[in-house]
Amino acid sequence: MRFDTLAVHGGERVPGPEGSVVFPIFQGTVFTSEPGESYHDIKYHRLNSTPSQVYLHDKLAALEGAEAAVATSSGMAAVTTILHTLLGAGDHLLVSDVLYGGTHDFVTAHAARLGWEYSVIDPQAPDSWEVRQNTRAILVETITNPLLRVGRLRDVVSFARTNGIVSVIDNTFASPVNFRPLVAGFDLVFNSATKYLNGHSDVVAGSVAGSTALVEKVRHTLNLYGGTLDPHAGYLLARSLKTLGVRVRQQNANALALAEFLVGSSKVGAVNYPGLPGHPDHEHASELLNGFGGMLSFRLAGGAEAAEVFLSALTLPAVAPSLGGVDTLITRPAFTSHAGMSAEDRAAAGITDDLIRLSVGIEDVEDLIADFATALDKV
Ligand code: PLP
Repeated sequence: MRFDTLAVHGGERVPGPEGSVVFPIFQGTVFTSEPGESYHDIKYHRLNSTPSQVYLHDKLAALEGAEAAVATSSGMAAVTTILHTLLGAGDHLLVSDVLYGGTHDFVTAHAARLGWEYSVIDPQAPDSWEVRQNTRAILVETITNPLLRVGRLRDVVSFARTNGIVSVIDNTFASPVNFRPLVAGFDLVFNSATKYLNGHSDVVAGSVAGSTALVEKVRHTLNLYGGTLDPHAGYLLARSLKTLGVRVRQQNANALALAEFLVGSSKVGAVNYPGLPGHPDHEHASELLNGFGGMLSFRLAGGAEAAEVFLSALTLPAVAPSLGGVDTLITRPAFTSHAGMSAEDRAAAGITDDLIRLSVGIEDVEDLIADFATALDKV
């Protein structure tokens, strides 16, 4: 089955309980058990084993092309549970130099306390990557925030295989519509399902997918750490997954059209979007990805002051952090997602006060472009 068919039919039970075409929410936490069942197989909500959960896991696995998947209570629960599964005291981890702020803060603030060692790698420079005897995993992101860089992901896969370490990727910005990491050879993929997978800015959730053996290990860790997704949130997520392809393709198309519009404006200084031929990763991103995603960032020629005027002149996008929903959102990362970094670190990473980040929704792109044109006239 192709992606959109999997999105609708993947993981579905036919016939559903009581003939229901839509899989219901099993709100109950307690189920009868069989003698001899292992702790992790008893049906209990925190153990991620109830019918609604297993249904969602099967749907997520279908979309990722995975043997198995497990949902978590947030994207952060996904990444922290993965790392706690793969690493013990004395182990070493390779991490990308650009990571989502929460992931970056978790690794930098907690690794030493947990007895983990880590080294930071440049995902664009495979020749500089080195393992140690105790290296267990490498962690990268598909498309980075907020400069939208795409690393040498095929090299990450071959490097991990050659060195016998686990390759882990945060695919939140791409979603499985634009990139299926397991099909490309990664061992584990995770998402902040809060973003594109749910896509309506009304659920916080995460997903992890990979081989049955690895996902079972992650689920057992999750069962003990307790980062379980609530059944109502799981229901909303499963429902949203059915429209994932339709939504993300519209977001890809809208983002490309907006990026091209912005490039053509004399008021705009620089536009970061991997779908533009001038983007430093355009060539290998074109080979890797099915679409370039709904995220872009740009700077106005008038700098931070112009950015402030521009944001307040827009009428359609909400000025808000987060991303991946059907509504267009706009933010200045230096004041939201990256406000926790020092000004020097932000400057070194290119996240200056004038940088504007856009999460493009599914509105009619002509309306978005008209709104942007009017706001640019006021700058
Ligand atoms: N990974 C990326 C790329 C993100 O953007 C986020 C949140 O913004 C996360 C992980 C964490 O996800 P959550 O907020 O669902 O915990």
